[in-house]
Amino acid sequence: MNKEIFKLYDIRGEYPSQINEKEVFEIGFKSTSIFRKGAKIVIGRDARLSSPGLSKALENGLINAGFEVFDVGIITTPMLDFAVNFFKADGGIVVTASHNPKDDNGLGIVDSSGLFIGGRDLFLKMSSEKNNFKTTYIKKENKIKRENLDLKYAQELSEYFDVSKKIKAVVDCSNGSSAPVIKKIKFPKNVEAIIINGNLDGNFKAHGPDPTQKIAQVAIAKAVIKYKADIGIVFDGDGDRALFADGKGKIIRPENIWRILAQGARDKKQSVVFTVLCRYMMNLIKNSSGFSNEFNFVETRVGHLFMKEVCRKEKAFAGVESSMHYYFPEDNFSGSAILAMIKVINSISKLPYDFYQLSDMLPKVFVSREINFKFDLKKLPVIYSKIKKMFSSRDNKIYFTDGISVLSSDWWFNVRPSNTENLVRLNIEAKEEIKLEEIKKYLTKILSK
Ligand SMILES: [Zn+2]
Repeated sequence: MNKEIFKLYDIRGEYPSQINEKEVFEIGFKSTSIFRKGAKIVIGRDARLSSPGLSKALENGLINAGFEVFDVGIITTPMLDFAVNFFKADGGIVVTASHNPKDDNGLGIVDSSGLFIGGRDLFLKMSSEKNNFKTTYIKKENKIKRENLDLKYAQELSEYFDVSKKIKAVVDCSNGSSAPVIKKIKFPKNVEAIIINGNLDGNFKAHGPDPTQKIAQVAIAKAVIKYKADIGIVFDGDGDRALFADGKGKIIRPENIWRILAQGARDKKQSVVFTVLCRYMMNLIKNSSGFSNEFNFVETRVGHLFMKEVCRKEKAFAGVESSMHYYFPEDNFSGSAILAMIKVINSISKLPYDFYQLSDMLPKVFVSREINFKFDLKKLPVIYSKIKKMFSSRDNKIYFTDGISVLSSDWWFNVRPSNTENLVRLNIEAKEEIKLEEIKKYLTKILSK
């Protein structure tokens, strides 16, 4: 097995040089190390060109290892939870590389409760599996049950609509796997949904599968203005991230999206879970909107693996990641971006003014994009103590939740190691651009050495 593709959160690599049919067959076959003998396993896939072939190889691996396989075809990643629950299965596997470039692919593996099993854990268990591995594919097509759950899933999600006034929304599926579900969503009469890029296309030719890219953001801004819509939504390739734009085409940060949802919450004595990268913005929101004595703010490490778990433990009102993942209790925190869309449409329909008018009032900050440095991770403790020494003062708070963070009233930064490569990642936010540049210059100097 190729150890390289087993990442912290899931399995991912370039197709076919790193991840291919042979690897995936073996992973399916060695899943006996994580699931009980004869377990029921649900499999699904995204819209990538290599996904049908990999899915077939996975099926063969699982069937040959004695599992019962339910193939639900093209799904969003959060829909895997729904499918596992629907079939009362022991686990599920989705073939996807999420928002990664089109030539990548991967696997996300969940247990019977829908929690992801991290790639490192998978590698440890699978590589010690004694189950005798044959490289020949034995086709046992008759052992696989196939069922499409799009309609059932869309019906369930549609029930969460609660829209108070007329809303026009542009819904951009990025040619990814959210499209088949979105087309079956029953939008209420007062919601006019204009679906764009709703054809499945493994080349993601509209603007790629990643809504954090400028090209996708420019496209939704244009579309919102063209259709005179109130809101624009862009899903990533596998429907677990959603980007929101207001009626003027301005992109709204995930923390501010939470702020909009929180405004309408009936019970504010609940937890909101966010990652360390949201801290600065969450602090601004907390202090600017009087939420500080209401919600219980819970911080966690970056990654859906941790988010899902912490949200469940906290029975949270919502979970938010700066990477545009959202988690809600209605579907046991599956991370459905479609549910996020529904909840945001509900919230903006209850505003006494337009969405863009609200977004103009939200806190604004200057943001560095994530900056990566090639780095020998063994040197990190030295760097941390250097940073600690440099920034220690009564006005700054220093945290070690995920790498090191320094929080001041007017700026914030985080330095953390990549979980997959020999890189450190730097994120900075500040009220003033000049301060952001000053911090960036200093940290670039010490991280480039
Ligand atoms: Zn994704």
